[in-house]
Amino acid sequence: MGAQPRRGRPDDAHADALFGFEDIDTGQGAHVPADAGPLFRDSPAARRLLSVREIRAEPAAAASPRGRQVLARFPDVEIVPVDSHWGIPDLHGNAGNVDRWVRIKSEVLVLGEKKTLTTRPNGRSADWIAPGPANGCAMACAYCYVPRRKGYANPITVFTNIERIIAHISRHVARLGSKTVANQCDPTAWVYDVGENSDCSVDALISDNVADIVRAFARWPSAKASFATKFVNPDLLLLDPRGRTRVRFSVMPQEDSKLLDIRTSPVESRIAAAGDFLEAGYEVHFNLSPVVLRPGWESDWALLLRQMDDVLPTAVKDQAAAEVIMLTHNEDLHELNLGWHQRAEDALWRPDLQEPKRSENGSWNVRYRVGVKSGAVETMRTLVARHAPWLRIRYAF
Ligand code: SF4
Repeated sequence: MGAQPRRGRPDDAHADALFGFEDIDTGQGAHVPADAGPLFRDSPAARRLLSVREIRAEPAAAASPRGRQVLARFPDVEIVPVDSHWGIPDLHGNAGNVDRWVRIKSEVLVLGEKKTLTTRPNGRSADWIAPGPANGCAMACAYCYVPRRKGYANPITVFTNIERIIAHISRHVARLGSKTVANQCDPTAWVYDVGENSDCSVDALISDNVADIVRAFARWPSAKASFATKFVNPDLLLLDPRGRTRVRFSVMPQEDSKLLDIRTSPVESRIAAAGDFLEAGYEVHFNLSPVVLRPGWESDWALLLRQMDDVLPTAVKDQAAAEVIMLTHNEDLHELNLGWHQRAEDALWRPDLQEPKRSENGSWNVRYRVGVKSGAVETMRTLVARHAPWLRIRYAF
């Protein structure tokens, strides 16, 4: 016990597993109490976001227990076999899809198996980035980095081999042992981000993958799951996370959100949900992100922080912490957004304030210039201290 993480090392196949195949519930709604009533995921509001008409499926994924569960949820849809969830040209291409992105996002699902299971060190938002339950998203934020690898009309791919994903994380947790040195991610638990490439609240509209992850972490005393979300899914309140899943509601001023957060839940409803999620056993944090510099940004963030101070219950404030993340944009995404959402680019693309930086995959990102960014981070710290002094900033960059 007390072992330090062996950073970047692949999983040890001989480590003790904390997880067995029996931990997966493959029945429809298996995690939901019998007296729960109608589920949100079957409501008209959920269908406005996701109204599946077509499923592209790898054959093995479709035949798996989780795949069959998803297919049973959408019995009347067309099922189209695909060789791989990677590279489905008419879904993942960019320019040709720009005028039907939202339709693809809301009407198409992909079923696939996650082949490469790796957990990477992080150290900012979480100690570790774990493989998640899905990639892609039904929402369409103008600044989103998630779809960059698959192309921007990136509908949700549900990973049906969730038992392998959780077994992988389980071995990683077992290998680490207890966390003996506190850090800003968490004083005592190893924090695993499980939502790097999707929004788990939306993923939970489709399958029990997220419920399985929440349930697994509830049994691991040395670890905690974490995901950021811009969507309020009340079905998550029916789970039993026992404090071992951290939900990070992303918030930004309403004016920015209306322009940039396409298809998400309104910011005020994300804030209003915080108390319910805490009561249900989640830890509730906030992502103040992305911070977009435009005329009046300081006063709008001040207003938002005052709203949070006014409406959040004391119990939420007592345990809350925040990440502050300045906008990073991308040249390819900028070009693409000009084809469908030019007004967003007026706010996101600011060559007068930004500088290019080559990203790991070779494309050009832009970020606020060093002096601009450090000044804005300082301003955000001052605003939080003045208007929401209970909100501990875990990190800001
Ligand atoms: S909710 Fe998150 S993953 Fe989905 S489009 Fe917005 S930023 Fe991307």
